[in-house]
Amino acid sequence: EKPTVINFNPGPAKVDPTVMAQAQKELLNYRNLGFGVLEMSHRSAEFIDIVDKAKTNLKELLNIPDNYKIIFLQGGATGQFSAVPLNLLNLSPDCTADYVVTGTWSAKAAKEAEKYGKINIVHPKLKKYTSIPAEDSWQLNPNAAYVYYCDNETVNGVEFHFVPDTGNVPIVADMSSNILSKPVDVSKFGVIIAGAQKNIGCAGVTLVIIREDLIGHQMKECPAVLDYKLQTDMNSLYNTPPSYSIYLTGLVLQWIKNTGGVTAMSRKCAAKSQLIYSVINNSNGFYHCVLDEDCRSRMNLPFRVGGPGGDQELEALFLERTKQANMVGLKGHRSVGGIRASLYNAVTVEETQQLADLMLSFQQEHA
Ligand code: PMP
Repeated sequence: EKPTVINFNPGPAKVDPTVMAQAQKELLNYRNLGFGVLEMSHRSAEFIDIVDKAKTNLKELLNIPDNYKIIFLQGGATGQFSAVPLNLLNLSPDCTADYVVTGTWSAKAAKEAEKYGKINIVHPKLKKYTSIPAEDSWQLNPNAAYVYYCDNETVNGVEFHFVPDTGNVPIVADMSSNILSKPVDVSKFGVIIAGAQKNIGCAGVTLVIIREDLIGHQMKECPAVLDYKLQTDMNSLYNTPPSYSIYLTGLVLQWIKNTGGVTAMSRKCAAKSQLIYSVINNSNGFYHCVLDEDCRSRMNLPFRVGGPGGDQELEALFLERTKQANMVGLKGHRSVGGIRASLYNAVTVEETQQLADLMLSFQQEHA
């Protein structure tokens, strides 16, 4: 018998139990072939059907316009930190790109891109990742190849609740930790990248959604596996793809579709994050969230216990209490400290309510 655990892991993270059950059911015998997806040729008709079905569902869920391509790549979102400049920097005559750096992941993306061109951070360096610098203060370069930002900073909890206005310069957005949690106007983006292991499946596959006219500008040094042109031409099958991860992502996409699509996910995410933020906001400072109100993430909610800087003893006690309640994954990232609740698509409102209840009773006992 499987123990009942509430999984708040930041990623890899919870997958809906119906998806897990289907994967289990098909593990040894996919569609009565007598073997599973793990054992299937990536050139087989069955696997190509899995890829195409995942693309069709994603296109439908995000309302992706016809002039965009979807590819499934390896190397994680970190691989895309290199792929983006390798494929796009040539769009600028002097190999430059603009980066908005609002947290750990966009900082890493900018650092990686510096290997390939001239990277301009569009605002003064932030001392703390708790806000988004006012958009009208960004120093955007009209000749930049693209403007890059991270739509949801998983570690710091900074989420964009708007799409930046960059004029004619294409936007590249990292949506690894919030993809399919809200409706997105894809036509405003040049490229969207997302690792799958938080909201849409398991580790091993990274999603790239790219506008057609941005394909085909790769540097000659660009590795084949990261080459957007080659990979779109080959339907993500230039080499052996992460086939099982693509299959699992396909199951998750089907589950999202069956449960009301992105609109339903978005409503659920708003309800869940509201439960936790309202406990924080009504705690008279017992719980503290350092983030500016207008950029608080609906997916990753970092907070301190016992005051603004956090009381280490109380935080240890709090984590112990969550452990007793069979909750996992709530320890904040080591660079931030405190607590972090990750409320990805598969986490239910009921599970989140249990965390909110626990926070309330912990406060009553210790405030
Ligand atoms: N971007 C974001 C927003 C992330 O949360 C992560 C992983 N936590 C990454 C990039 C890096 O992803 P990967 O580990 O798959 O390379």
